[in-house]
Amino acid sequence: MNTRSIRFRVTVWYAGLLTALLVLFGVFIYFTLERFLETSLRDTLTKEAQTIGEALISNVNETGDAYVIKEIEEHFAPRITSRFLRVTRADGSVLYQSSAPESGTFDPSEIASSPLDTVPPWREEHLRNGKELLIHTLPFVDRTGSRYLIQAGAPYEQVERVLEELLLSLGVAFPLIVAVAIVGGYVLMRNAVKPLDEMATTAERITLRNLNERIPAVSTGDELEKLTLSLNRMMERLEEAFHHINRFSADASHEIRTPLAIIRGEMEEAFHSPEIAPQLGARLGSALEETERLSRIVEQLLEMSRLEAGETLVERTHFDFTEMTRSTVDQMRLLAEEKKLQLQFEGAKPIDVEGDPLRLKQIVVNLVDNAIKYTPSGGSVSVATYPEDGRVVLEVADTGIGIPKDATSQIFDRFFRVDKARSRQLGGAGLGLAIVKSICAAYSGNVSVNSAEGQGAVFRVELPLDRSNHRKETNV
Ligand code: ADP
Repeated sequence: MNTRSIRFRVTVWYAGLLTALLVLFGVFIYFTLERFLETSLRDTLTKEAQTIGEALISNVNETGDAYVIKEIEEHFAPRITSRFLRVTRADGSVLYQSSAPESGTFDPSEIASSPLDTVPPWREEHLRNGKELLIHTLPFVDRTGSRYLIQAGAPYEQVERVLEELLLSLGVAFPLIVAVAIVGGYVLMRNAVKPLDEMATTAERITLRNLNERIPAVSTGDELEKLTLSLNRMMERLEEAFHHINRFSADASHEIRTPLAIIRGEMEEAFHSPEIAPQLGARLGSALEETERLSRIVEQLLEMSRLEAGETLVERTHFDFTEMTRSTVDQMRLLAEEKKLQLQFEGAKPIDVEGDPLRLKQIVVNLVDNAIKYTPSGGSVSVATYPEDGRVVLEVADTGIGIPKDATSQIFDRFFRVDKARSRQLGGAGLGLAIVKSICAAYSGNVSVNSAEGQGAVFRVELPLDRSNHRKETNV
Protein backbone atom coordinates (compact mmCIF):
# COMPACT_ATOMS: atom_id res chain seq x y z
CA MET A 1 0.00 0.00 0.00
CA ASN A 2 1.35 3.41 -0.96
CA THR A 3 1.31 5.45 2.26
CA ARG A 4 1.92 8.69 0.34
CA SER A 5 -1.09 8.36 -1.93
CA ILE A 6 -3.91 10.89 -1.55
CA ARG A 7 -6.26 7.95 -0.96
CA PHE A 8 -4.26 6.72 2.03
CA ARG A 9 -3.59 10.14 3.52
CA VAL A 10 -7.18 11.37 3.28
CA THR A 11 -8.46 8.11 4.79
CA VAL A 12 -5.98 8.34 7.69
CA TRP A 13 -6.86 11.98 8.36
CA TYR A 14 -10.52 11.28 8.16
CA ALA A 15 -10.29 8.21 10.44
CA GLY A 16 -8.12 10.13 12.92
CA LEU A 17 -10.54 13.04 13.01
CA LEU A 18 -13.52 10.75 13.40
CA THR A 19 -11.82 8.87 16.26
CA ALA A 20 -10.98 12.15 18.06
CA LEU A 21 -14.58 13.38 17.64
CA LEU A 22 -16.00 10.07 18.87
CA VAL A 23 -13.72 10.11 21.94
CA LEU A 24 -14.78 13.69 22.72
CA PHE A 25 -18.41 12.74 22.24
CA GLY A 26 -17.95 9.67 24.51
CA VAL A 27 -16.35 11.76 27.28
CA PHE A 28 -19.16 14.29 27.03
CA ILE A 29 -21.86 11.59 27.16
CA TYR A 30 -20.16 9.87 30.10
CA PHE A 31 -19.94 12.94 32.31
CA THR A 32 -23.39 14.23 31.36
CA LEU A 33 -24.95 10.87 32.18
CA GLU A 34 -23.01 10.62 35.45
CA ARG A 35 -24.28 14.04 36.54
CA PHE A 36 -27.81 13.23 35.50
CA LEU A 37 -27.86 9.89 37.36
CA GLU A 38 -26.40 11.42 40.52
CA THR A 39 -28.92 14.28 40.48
CA SER A 40 -31.77 11.81 39.94
CA LEU A 41 -30.54 9.69 42.84
CA ARG A 42 -30.32 12.71 45.11
CA ASP A 43 -33.85 13.82 44.08
CA THR A 44 -35.24 10.36 44.79
CA LEU A 45 -33.59 10.14 48.23
CA THR A 46 -34.76 13.67 49.13
CA LYS A 47 -38.33 12.83 48.11
CA GLU A 48 -38.30 9.52 50.02
CA ALA A 49 -37.10 11.17 53.24
CA GLN A 50 -39.65 13.97 52.87
CA THR A 51 -42.51 11.59 52.14
CA ILE A 52 -41.63 9.43 55.16
CA GLY A 53 -41.55 12.55 57.33
CA GLU A 54 -44.67 14.27 56.09
CA ALA A 55 -46.88 11.25 55.49
CA LEU A 56 -45.85 9.00 58.38
CA ILE A 57 -43.66 10.60 61.08
CA SER A 58 -45.77 13.76 61.50
CA ASN A 59 -48.68 11.60 62.77
CA VAL A 60 -46.68 8.94 64.55
CA ASN A 61 -48.24 9.83 67.93
CA GLU A 62 -51.68 8.96 66.64
CA THR A 63 -50.87 6.04 64.34
CA GLY A 64 -48.21 4.36 66.49
CA ASP A 65 -44.73 3.06 65.65
CA ALA A 66 -45.92 -0.29 64.25
CA TYR A 67 -48.08 1.43 61.62
CA VAL A 68 -45.16 3.62 60.50
CA ILE A 69 -42.87 0.58 60.22
CA LYS A 70 -45.45 -1.40 58.27
CA GLU A 71 -46.13 1.53 55.89
CA ILE A 72 -42.45 2.14 55.19
CA GLU A 73 -41.87 -1.55 54.45
CA GLU A 74 -44.92 -1.66 52.21
CA HIS A 75 -44.39 1.52 50.21
CA PHE A 76 -40.62 1.74 49.99
CA ALA A 77 -39.68 -1.97 50.06
CA PRO A 78 -36.03 -1.15 50.95
CA ARG A 79 -34.96 -4.82 50.82
CA ILE A 80 -35.94 -5.06 47.18
CA THR A 81 -34.93 -1.57 46.05
CA SER A 82 -31.58 -1.80 47.88
CA ARG A 83 -32.39 1.30 49.90
CA PHE A 84 -31.14 2.21 53.34
CA LEU A 85 -33.85 3.85 55.52
CA ARG A 86 -33.57 4.78 59.14
CA VAL A 87 -35.74 6.96 61.46
CA THR A 88 -34.07 7.95 64.72
CA ARG A 89 -35.71 9.71 67.68
CA ALA A 90 -34.15 12.68 69.45
CA ASP A 91 -32.92 10.46 72.25
CA GLY A 92 -30.99 8.33 69.75
CA SER A 93 -33.34 5.37 69.84
CA VAL A 94 -34.20 3.92 66.41
CA LEU A 95 -37.87 3.96 65.37
CA TYR A 96 -37.21 2.17 62.09
CA GLN A 97 -34.21 0.75 60.27
CA SER A 98 -34.34 -1.15 57.01
CA SER A 99 -32.87 -4.62 56.96
CA ALA A 100 -30.00 -5.74 54.66
CA PRO A 101 -31.03 -5.58 50.97
CA GLU A 102 -31.49 -8.72 48.93
CA SER A 103 -28.63 -7.67 46.67
CA GLY A 104 -26.32 -7.83 49.71
CA THR A 105 -24.66 -4.59 48.75
CA PHE A 106 -24.41 -3.21 52.29
CA ASP A 107 -25.00 -4.01 55.91
CA PRO A 108 -27.26 -1.34 57.52
CA SER A 109 -25.74 -1.90 60.97
CA GLU A 110 -22.44 -0.57 59.64
CA ILE A 111 -23.95 2.84 58.99
CA ALA A 112 -23.45 5.15 61.96
CA SER A 113 -26.33 7.36 63.06
CA SER A 114 -25.56 11.03 63.42
CA PRO A 115 -26.28 13.44 66.28
CA LEU A 116 -29.37 15.54 65.59
CA ASP A 117 -27.80 19.00 65.42
CA THR A 118 -24.59 18.55 63.46
CA VAL A 119 -25.94 16.63 60.55
CA PRO A 120 -24.87 17.60 56.97
CA PRO A 121 -27.72 16.91 54.52
CA TRP A 122 -25.50 14.69 52.32
CA ARG A 123 -22.63 12.37 53.03
CA GLU A 124 -20.91 9.43 51.47
CA GLU A 125 -20.47 6.37 53.64
CA HIS A 126 -17.47 4.19 52.74
CA LEU A 127 -18.28 0.61 53.64
CA ARG A 128 -15.94 -2.17 54.65
CA ASN A 129 -16.58 -4.08 51.41
CA GLY A 130 -15.19 -1.11 49.44
CA LYS A 131 -18.56 0.13 48.28
CA GLU A 132 -20.02 3.58 48.81
CA LEU A 133 -23.44 4.66 49.99
CA LEU A 134 -24.93 8.10 49.33
CA ILE A 135 -26.92 9.12 52.38
CA HIS A 136 -29.38 11.99 52.76
CA THR A 137 -30.23 13.06 56.31
CA LEU A 138 -33.40 15.07 57.02
CA PRO A 139 -34.14 16.48 60.51
CA PHE A 140 -37.93 16.38 61.04
CA VAL A 141 -40.32 17.64 63.76
CA ASP A 142 -43.72 15.94 64.19
CA ARG A 143 -46.97 17.64 65.09
CA THR A 144 -46.29 17.32 68.83
CA GLY A 145 -42.89 18.95 68.44
CA SER A 146 -40.79 15.78 68.83
CA ARG A 147 -37.63 15.76 66.69
CA TYR A 148 -36.56 12.93 64.40
CA LEU A 149 -33.75 12.22 61.99
CA ILE A 150 -34.76 10.53 58.74
CA GLN A 151 -31.92 8.92 56.75
CA ALA A 152 -32.40 7.67 53.17
CA GLY A 153 -29.49 6.11 51.33
CA ALA A 154 -28.67 4.18 48.18
CA PRO A 155 -25.50 2.50 46.95
CA TYR A 156 -23.47 4.39 44.36
CA GLU A 157 -23.06 1.07 42.65
CA GLN A 158 -26.32 1.64 40.78
CA VAL A 159 -24.92 4.74 39.07
CA GLU A 160 -21.56 3.06 38.46
CA ARG A 161 -23.20 0.04 36.83
CA VAL A 162 -25.05 2.22 34.30
CA LEU A 163 -21.83 4.10 33.53
CA GLU A 164 -19.93 0.84 33.08
CA GLU A 165 -22.61 -0.37 30.66
CA LEU A 166 -22.26 2.87 28.74
CA LEU A 167 -18.48 2.51 28.56
CA LEU A 168 -18.83 -1.05 27.31
CA SER A 169 -21.31 -0.04 24.60
CA LEU A 170 -19.13 2.85 23.47
CA GLY A 171 -16.04 0.60 23.54
CA VAL A 172 -17.73 -1.80 21.11
CA ALA A 173 -19.58 0.75 18.97
CA PHE A 174 -16.75 3.28 18.41
CA PRO A 175 -14.13 0.92 16.94
CA LEU A 176 -16.87 -0.56 14.74
CA ILE A 177 -17.91 2.90 13.50
CA VAL A 178 -14.26 3.83 12.85
CA ALA A 179 -13.61 0.52 11.01
CA VAL A 180 -16.68 0.98 8.78
CA ALA A 181 -15.70 4.60 8.16
CA ILE A 182 -12.13 3.60 7.19
CA VAL A 183 -13.30 0.91 4.76
CA GLY A 184 -16.08 3.10 3.35
CA GLY A 185 -13.80 6.15 3.11
CA TYR A 186 -11.05 4.15 1.41
CA VAL A 187 -13.44 2.73 -1.19
CA LEU A 188 -14.98 6.16 -1.81
CA MET A 189 -11.56 7.76 -2.16
CA ARG A 190 -10.40 4.99 -4.48
CA ASN A 191 -13.33 5.64 -6.79
CA ALA A 192 -12.84 9.38 -6.54
CA VAL A 193 -9.15 9.32 -7.54
CA LYS A 194 -9.47 6.54 -10.12
CA PRO A 195 -9.80 9.06 -12.98
CA LEU A 196 -6.54 10.62 -11.76
CA ASP A 197 -4.75 7.28 -12.14
CA GLU A 198 -6.20 6.90 -15.64
CA MET A 199 -5.07 10.44 -16.49
CA ALA A 200 -1.54 9.66 -15.31
CA THR A 201 -1.43 6.43 -17.36
CA THR A 202 -2.61 8.21 -20.52
CA ALA A 203 -0.25 11.13 -19.97
CA GLU A 204 2.65 8.65 -19.54
CA ARG A 205 1.71 6.93 -22.81
CA ILE A 206 1.74 10.12 -24.84
CA THR A 207 4.93 10.75 -26.78
CA LEU A 208 5.82 12.68 -29.92
CA ARG A 209 4.42 9.80 -31.98
CA ASN A 210 0.92 9.82 -30.52
CA LEU A 211 0.41 13.43 -29.57
CA ASN A 212 -3.11 13.13 -30.96
CA GLU A 213 -4.14 10.89 -28.03
CA ARG A 214 -6.33 12.46 -25.35
CA ILE A 215 -7.16 11.70 -21.75
CA PRO A 216 -10.60 10.01 -21.61
CA ALA A 217 -13.21 12.63 -20.79
CA VAL A 218 -15.00 12.37 -17.44
CA SER A 219 -18.35 14.07 -17.03
CA THR A 220 -18.38 14.36 -13.26
CA GLY A 221 -18.86 18.12 -13.35
CA ASP A 222 -16.17 18.51 -10.68
CA GLU A 223 -12.51 19.56 -10.47
CA LEU A 224 -11.46 16.31 -12.20
CA GLU A 225 -13.49 17.12 -15.29
CA LYS A 226 -11.97 20.60 -15.31
CA LEU A 227 -8.47 19.13 -14.99
CA THR A 228 -9.09 16.63 -17.82
CA LEU A 229 -10.37 19.38 -20.11
CA SER A 230 -7.42 21.65 -19.28
CA LEU A 231 -4.88 18.88 -19.87
CA ASN A 232 -6.52 17.91 -23.17
CA ARG A 233 -6.53 21.54 -24.31
CA MET A 234 -2.87 21.83 -23.32
CA MET A 235 -2.08 18.72 -25.35
CA GLU A 236 -3.95 20.14 -28.32
CA ARG A 237 -1.76 23.25 -28.16
CA LEU A 238 1.37 21.10 -27.79
CA GLU A 239 0.38 18.98 -30.76
CA GLU A 240 -0.20 22.09 -32.83
CA ALA A 241 3.14 23.62 -31.81
CA PHE A 242 4.95 20.35 -32.47
CA HIS A 243 3.44 19.99 -35.93
CA HIS A 244 4.30 23.57 -36.64
CA ILE A 245 7.98 23.02 -35.76
CA ASN A 246 8.08 19.74 -37.60
CA ARG A 247 6.55 21.19 -40.73
CA PHE A 248 8.92 24.13 -40.58
CA SER A 249 11.93 21.82 -40.30
CA ALA A 250 10.63 19.61 -43.15
CA ASP A 251 9.83 22.59 -45.38
CA ALA A 252 13.17 24.29 -44.68
CA SER A 253 15.17 21.10 -45.41
CA HIS A 254 13.14 20.52 -48.54
CA GLU A 255 13.64 24.07 -49.78
CA ILE A 256 17.40 23.97 -49.11
CA ARG A 257 17.85 20.58 -50.78
CA THR A 258 17.31 21.67 -54.40
CA PRO A 259 19.54 24.79 -54.46
CA LEU A 260 22.18 22.79 -52.58
CA ALA A 261 22.07 20.03 -55.19
CA ILE A 262 22.46 22.66 -57.93
CA ILE A 263 25.45 24.27 -56.11
CA ARG A 264 27.00 20.83 -55.68
CA GLY A 265 26.52 20.00 -59.36
CA GLU A 266 28.01 23.29 -60.49
CA MET A 267 30.97 22.94 -58.15
CA GLU A 268 31.65 19.38 -59.24
CA GLU A 269 31.63 20.47 -62.84
CA ALA A 270 34.03 23.32 -62.11
CA PHE A 271 36.22 21.03 -60.04
CA HIS A 272 36.59 18.51 -62.82
CA SER A 273 37.16 21.17 -65.47
CA PRO A 274 40.72 20.99 -66.96
CA GLU A 275 40.93 24.78 -67.15
CA ILE A 276 40.82 25.29 -63.43
CA ALA A 277 44.04 26.45 -61.73
CA PRO A 278 45.42 23.88 -59.21
CA GLN A 279 45.22 26.32 -56.26
CA LEU A 280 41.60 27.17 -57.00
CA GLY A 281 40.93 23.45 -57.57
CA ALA A 282 42.13 22.62 -54.04
CA ARG A 283 39.86 25.31 -52.57
CA LEU A 284 36.94 24.14 -54.63
CA GLY A 285 37.57 20.57 -53.45
CA SER A 286 37.39 21.59 -49.82
CA ALA A 287 34.24 23.71 -50.44
CA LEU A 288 32.71 20.72 -52.22
CA GLU A 289 33.38 18.52 -49.19
CA GLU A 290 31.59 21.00 -46.93
CA THR A 291 28.68 21.20 -49.38
CA GLU A 292 28.41 17.42 -49.34
CA ARG A 293 28.38 17.48 -45.53
CA LEU A 294 25.67 20.13 -45.59
CA SER A 295 23.66 18.00 -48.03
CA ARG A 296 23.93 15.03 -45.67
CA ILE A 297 22.73 17.12 -42.73
CA VAL A 298 19.80 18.46 -44.75
CA GLU A 299 18.90 14.92 -45.86
CA GLN A 300 19.07 13.69 -42.27
CA LEU A 301 16.94 16.60 -41.00
CA LEU A 302 14.34 15.90 -43.64
CA GLU A 303 14.45 12.24 -42.66
CA MET A 304 13.90 13.12 -38.99
CA SER A 305 10.94 15.36 -39.78
CA ARG A 306 9.38 12.63 -41.88
CA LEU A 307 9.96 10.05 -39.18
CA GLU A 308 8.43 12.25 -36.53
CA ALA A 309 5.44 12.89 -38.73
CA GLY A 310 5.05 9.12 -39.09
CA GLU A 311 5.14 9.32 -42.90
CA THR A 312 7.78 6.62 -43.26
CA LEU A 313 5.69 3.89 -41.70
CA VAL A 314 3.35 3.57 -44.62
CA GLU A 315 5.60 1.06 -46.39
CA ARG A 316 5.29 -2.40 -44.83
CA THR A 317 6.64 -5.65 -46.21
CA HIS A 318 7.70 -8.98 -44.77
CA PHE A 319 11.42 -9.61 -44.92
CA ASP A 320 14.19 -11.51 -43.16
CA PHE A 321 15.86 -9.17 -40.67
CA THR A 322 18.95 -11.41 -40.34
CA GLU A 323 19.49 -11.45 -44.09
CA MET A 324 18.98 -7.70 -44.39
CA THR A 325 21.57 -7.10 -41.62
CA ARG A 326 24.06 -9.57 -43.15
CA SER A 327 23.92 -7.90 -46.59
CA THR A 328 24.21 -4.41 -45.04
CA VAL A 329 27.26 -5.47 -43.04
CA ASP A 330 28.77 -6.94 -46.22
CA GLN A 331 28.20 -3.65 -48.04
CA MET A 332 30.09 -1.83 -45.30
CA ARG A 333 32.99 -4.25 -45.20
CA LEU A 334 35.05 -2.02 -47.49
CA LEU A 335 34.80 0.86 -45.01
CA ALA A 336 36.08 -1.41 -42.25
CA GLU A 337 38.89 -2.78 -44.36
CA GLU A 338 40.03 0.77 -45.21
CA LYS A 339 40.46 1.35 -41.49
CA LYS A 340 42.01 -2.10 -40.92
CA LEU A 341 39.16 -3.20 -38.70
CA GLN A 342 37.73 -6.67 -38.31
CA LEU A 343 33.99 -6.70 -39.08
CA GLN A 344 32.07 -9.79 -37.98
CA PHE A 345 28.46 -10.78 -38.31
CA GLU A 346 26.65 -13.39 -36.28
CA GLY A 347 23.06 -14.37 -37.01
CA ALA A 348 22.07 -17.90 -37.85
CA LYS A 349 18.29 -17.86 -37.76
CA PRO A 350 16.09 -16.08 -40.27
CA ILE A 351 13.83 -13.60 -38.42
CA ASP A 352 10.68 -12.59 -40.21
CA VAL A 353 9.71 -8.96 -39.56
CA GLU A 354 7.11 -6.68 -41.04
CA GLY A 355 8.07 -3.10 -41.74
CA ASP A 356 9.90 -0.78 -44.04
CA PRO A 357 13.20 -2.53 -44.95
CA LEU A 358 14.87 0.74 -45.96
CA ARG A 359 14.16 2.37 -42.57
CA LEU A 360 15.25 -0.68 -40.61
CA LYS A 361 18.39 -0.97 -42.73
CA GLN A 362 19.18 2.58 -41.80
CA ILE A 363 19.45 1.53 -38.14
CA VAL A 364 22.12 -1.01 -39.07
CA VAL A 365 23.96 1.45 -41.33
CA ASN A 366 24.04 4.23 -38.73
CA LEU A 367 25.19 1.97 -35.88
CA VAL A 368 27.84 0.10 -37.91
CA ASP A 369 29.03 3.35 -39.48
CA ASN A 370 29.50 4.87 -35.99
CA ALA A 371 31.26 1.74 -34.73
CA ILE A 372 33.71 1.95 -37.66
CA LYS A 373 34.13 5.71 -37.25
CA TYR A 374 34.87 5.59 -33.54
CA THR A 375 37.13 2.49 -33.49
CA PRO A 376 40.82 3.04 -34.16
CA SER A 377 42.71 0.80 -36.64
CA GLY A 378 43.37 -2.72 -35.45
CA GLY A 379 40.10 -2.94 -33.50
CA SER A 380 37.02 -4.96 -34.28
CA VAL A 381 33.29 -4.48 -34.80
CA SER A 382 30.80 -7.31 -34.23
CA VAL A 383 27.20 -7.29 -35.32
CA ALA A 384 24.65 -9.86 -34.13
CA THR A 385 20.94 -10.46 -34.61
CA TYR A 386 18.76 -12.90 -32.69
CA PRO A 387 15.17 -13.23 -31.56
CA GLU A 388 14.37 -12.83 -27.84
CA ASP A 389 10.95 -12.88 -26.08
CA GLY A 390 8.92 -11.89 -29.13
CA ARG A 391 11.42 -9.21 -30.16
CA VAL A 392 14.24 -9.00 -32.63
CA VAL A 393 17.53 -7.87 -31.12
CA LEU A 394 20.34 -6.18 -33.03
CA GLU A 395 23.66 -5.74 -31.25
CA VAL A 396 26.56 -3.68 -32.58
CA ALA A 397 29.68 -3.91 -30.43
CA ASP A 398 33.04 -2.28 -31.02
CA THR A 399 36.42 -2.05 -29.31
CA GLY A 400 36.67 1.70 -29.96
CA ILE A 401 37.05 4.88 -27.93
CA GLY A 402 33.83 4.31 -26.01
CA ILE A 403 31.48 6.94 -24.56
CA PRO A 404 31.97 8.66 -21.17
CA LYS A 405 29.31 7.52 -18.65
CA ASP A 406 27.86 11.02 -18.21
CA ALA A 407 27.27 11.34 -21.97
CA THR A 408 25.45 8.05 -22.58
CA SER A 409 22.06 9.55 -21.77
CA GLN A 410 22.54 12.37 -24.31
CA ILE A 411 24.03 10.67 -27.34
CA PHE A 412 20.56 10.00 -28.79
CA ASP A 413 19.72 13.73 -28.72
CA ARG A 414 19.88 15.65 -31.97
CA PHE A 415 23.19 17.33 -32.73
CA PHE A 416 24.85 15.91 -29.63
CA ARG A 417 28.44 14.82 -30.11
CA VAL A 418 30.86 13.83 -27.37
CA ASP A 419 33.81 15.40 -29.13
CA LYS A 420 32.49 17.95 -31.61
CA ALA A 421 35.78 18.51 -33.46
CA ARG A 422 36.48 14.80 -33.85
CA SER A 423 32.95 13.98 -34.97
CA ARG A 424 32.97 16.85 -37.48
CA GLN A 425 36.29 15.63 -38.82
CA LEU A 426 34.72 12.22 -39.32
CA GLY A 427 31.80 13.79 -41.14
CA GLY A 428 29.20 13.51 -38.35
CA ALA A 429 26.60 16.09 -37.41
CA GLY A 430 25.14 14.31 -34.38
CA LEU A 431 21.96 13.17 -36.12
CA GLY A 432 22.72 9.49 -36.81
CA LEU A 433 21.69 8.15 -33.41
CA ALA A 434 18.69 10.53 -33.18
CA ILE A 435 17.44 8.96 -36.42
CA VAL A 436 18.03 5.44 -35.02
CA LYS A 437 16.02 6.39 -31.91
CA SER A 438 13.16 7.83 -34.00
CA ILE A 439 12.94 4.73 -36.19
CA CYS A 440 12.95 2.49 -33.09
CA ALA A 441 10.21 4.60 -31.50
CA ALA A 442 8.16 4.40 -34.69
CA TYR A 443 8.24 0.60 -34.36
CA SER A 444 7.59 0.69 -30.58
CA GLY A 445 11.10 -0.54 -29.99
CA ASN A 446 14.03 0.98 -28.19
CA VAL A 447 17.75 1.50 -28.45
CA SER A 448 20.23 1.54 -25.58
CA VAL A 449 23.96 1.73 -25.12
CA ASN A 450 26.42 0.17 -22.73
CA SER A 451 29.79 1.84 -22.77
CA ALA A 452 32.59 3.49 -20.83
CA GLU A 453 35.34 5.80 -21.99
CA GLY A 454 38.13 3.85 -23.71
CA GLN A 455 36.32 0.54 -23.38
CA GLY A 456 34.36 0.25 -26.59
CA ALA A 457 30.58 0.45 -26.92
CA VAL A 458 27.68 -1.97 -27.29
CA PHE A 459 24.51 -0.63 -28.91
CA ARG A 460 21.43 -2.78 -28.50
CA VAL A 461 18.23 -2.34 -30.52
CA GLU A 462 15.03 -4.19 -29.61
CA LEU A 463 12.04 -4.21 -31.93
CA PRO A 464 8.80 -6.05 -31.25
CA LEU A 465 7.97 -8.74 -33.79
CA ASP A 466 4.24 -8.38 -33.22
CA ARG A 467 2.88 -5.88 -35.72
CA SER A 468 0.11 -4.68 -33.41
CA ASN A 469 2.78 -3.02 -31.28
CA HIS A 470 3.83 -0.73 -34.07
CA ARG A 471 2.49 2.72 -33.59
CA LYS A 472 -0.09 4.14 -35.87
CA GLU A 473 1.15 6.68 -38.33
CA THR A 474 0.07 10.20 -37.53
CA ASN A 475 -1.39 12.33 -40.24
CA VAL A 476 0.32 15.66 -40.46
P1 ADP B 1 27.68 11.53 -35.46
O1 ADP B 1 27.13 11.76 -36.81
O2 ADP B 1 28.37 12.70 -34.87
O3 ADP B 1 28.40 10.25 -35.33
P2 ADP B 1 25.61 10.26 -33.95
O4 ADP B 1 24.25 10.72 -33.57
O5 ADP B 1 25.68 9.06 -34.81
O6 ADP B 1 26.34 11.49 -34.57
O7 ADP B 1 26.42 10.00 -32.62
C1 ADP B 1 26.43 10.98 -31.63
C2 ADP B 1 27.71 10.94 -30.84
O8 ADP B 1 27.78 9.72 -30.09
C3 ADP B 1 28.94 10.90 -31.70
O9 ADP B 1 29.36 12.20 -32.03
C4 ADP B 1 29.96 10.20 -30.84
O10 ADP B 1 30.55 11.12 -29.95
C5 ADP B 1 29.11 9.25 -30.02
N1 ADP B 1 29.14 7.88 -30.55
C6 ADP B 1 28.21 7.29 -31.35
N2 ADP B 1 28.55 6.01 -31.61
C7 ADP B 1 29.71 5.76 -30.96
C8 ADP B 1 30.59 4.63 -30.83
N3 ADP B 1 30.31 3.47 -31.43
N4 ADP B 1 31.69 4.77 -30.06
C9 ADP B 1 31.97 5.94 -29.45
N5 ADP B 1 31.22 7.03 -29.54
C10 ADP B 1 30.09 6.96 -30.27
